[in-house]
Amino acid sequence: MSYQVFKAHSLAELWQIFADRPDAYPIAGGTDIIPRVNQGIEFHPLFVCLDEILELYGVVWLPDGSLQIGALSKLVELAENKRLSEYHALQQACSRVASPQIRNQATIGGNVLQENRCIYFNQSVSWRREEPCFKLGGKRCYQYTRSPQCVALFQSDVAPVLMSYHAVACWQGPRGIRQTPLAELYLDAGKKAKGTDEILIALVIPPIDGVMRSAYTRETIRGSFDFPLISCAMTFVEQDGRITQATVVIGSAGVKPQYVDDIKPLLQGKTPAEAVKLMEEVQTLATKKIAPFRDSRVDAVTRKALGKSAVKRALLQVCGQDRQ
Ligand SMILES: Cc1cc2nc3c(=O)[nH]c(=O)nc-3n(C[C@H](O)[C@H](O)[C@H](O)COP(=O)(O)OP(=O)(O)OC[C@H]3O[C@@H](n4cnc5c(N)ncnc54)[C@H](O)[C@@H]3O)c2cc1C
Ligand code: SF4
Repeated sequence: MSYQVFKAHSLAELWQIFADRPDAYPIAGGTDIIPRVNQGIEFHPLFVCLDEILELYGVVWLPDGSLQIGALSKLVELAENKRLSEYHALQQACSRVASPQIRNQATIGGNVLQENRCIYFNQSVSWRREEPCFKLGGKRCYQYTRSPQCVALFQSDVAPVLMSYHAVACWQGPRGIRQTPLAELYLDAGKKAKGTDEILIALVIPPIDGVMRSAYTRETIRGSFDFPLISCAMTFVEQDGRITQATVVIGSAGVKPQYVDDIKPLLQGKTPAEAVKLMEEVQTLATKKIAPFRDSRVDAVTRKALGKSAVKRALLQVCGQDRQ
């Protein structure tokens, strides 16, 4: 099937395209959407490329100390930007996505907006089951047969890190601008709280009140070029050597990244050395967030074990007790 490709050169031009063609579908690096189109999973009659819209680029510090990252920033640029060394976990995550070729093309906006994945869904037509599953409008799930809805995993590497920094997503559409915590983008069953004509303009990381340390770890089958089986983003803010804010997010554990809120009070006021001594409690709390089903590559027990390993490595790194 053929499709049209338009290029928008400004946001104003983009809103006009959306007004004229409500079926227009935005495309950034294309590394998430194009494979699904090629596999015949999705079809869009009109793609509109965002890459010439200058308003979507740039990494800038705002007057209040927030860091604003344009949605079209390439993962490779973020990974290699020396000015971002304070955002260590972000650079770790950006440098682990897929392969160098994909990181050269992939954007941070596309990363946080990528589709949830599942081995029964991300297949070409000839390999897919005859009867469609929930995600394709059917009435069943092949991955977790008892589930009443889709449980495909959200496997973004970057979203858990941004959530651990409490990042805010800035949206713009023909009806105006809105800002929401990135975490609110992710809904049940892999759905996203975003209008079809809304564009992610930037991600804003609030100012840091103290010394920030962060780490991102992921478990994969292959050493590189692989989606995470499970991942952990951990960010501590410290004042006078004590943790004032501990944020842990577990990624690839279910349909959306999960905050582990119970860890906050556990680590509040501790020194990093004291935090490491609480390793077992931290691991137990964090791995409760891992959805208890086989994800088609590894079983539920293995997913928990891998989760413990990811959490352990993240805690050691963030507390400066691990060679990175
Ligand atoms: C082989 C392979 C391996 C991969 N491995 C990983 C991995 O290890 N980790 C990982 O996280 N990802 C991985 N990915 C997924 C993907 O490459 C990345 O998530 C990438 O960052 C997506 O960015 P993109 O710019 O290419 O997105 P696109 O494909 O252009 O877009 C993705 C989605 O976001 C929407 N979108 C993009 N930008 C905007 C915007 N500014 N406003 C509104 N909507 C927008 C698009 O409409 C589309 O729905 C892999 C992909 C492939 C093909
Ligand atoms: S998790 Fe279930 S419903 Fe979702 S894509 Fe996979 S098989 Fe389909």
